[in-house]
Amino acid sequence: MENCLFCKIAADEIHSEKVYEDDELMVFKDIFPAAPIHLLIIPKRHISTLSDCVATDTHLLGKMLAMVPVLAEQQGCGVKVDGAGNRYGGFKTLINSGPDGGQEVYHLHIHLIGGPKPWTGKNV
Ligand code: 5GP
Ligand code: ZN
Repeated sequence: MENCLFCKIAADEIHSEKVYEDDELMVFKDIFPAAPIHLLIIPKRHISTLSDCVATDTHLLGKMLAMVPVLAEQQGCGVKVDGAGNRYGGFKTLINSGPDGGQEVYHLHIHLIGGPKPWTGKNV
């Protein structure tokens, strides 16, 4: 879509620090990270907001969500278990939708936020 920031990033018309790309998805670093690790997972196809998603988007949404633990593991913030069986590490997953949901960029994206605390960013 014309004049959409993330469509331009998906088309490589605007530079981003890309972490992953395939024919449907792109993942890049948030320009104003709210935590040591802050990635944005987007579909290459323009969808403005989660509220615009319909049943035929189920596969795409599932694929985006399934990327989260893979990326978290790659970035070193996956959920881990120590020898005593206690969990540590981890991350936050966020989709802001609409003005009251705090959405600023109207191209669907999942925030993946993690790394050593404290996190001081506005989204977390
Ligand atoms: P929202 O508030 O819409 O959920 O989040 C939009 C996110 O996009 C914000 O966290 C913001 O920092 C990020 N962002 C805005 N402009 C750019 C940009 O040009 N490049 C990158 N990599 N991230 C951006
Ligand atoms: Zn777009």
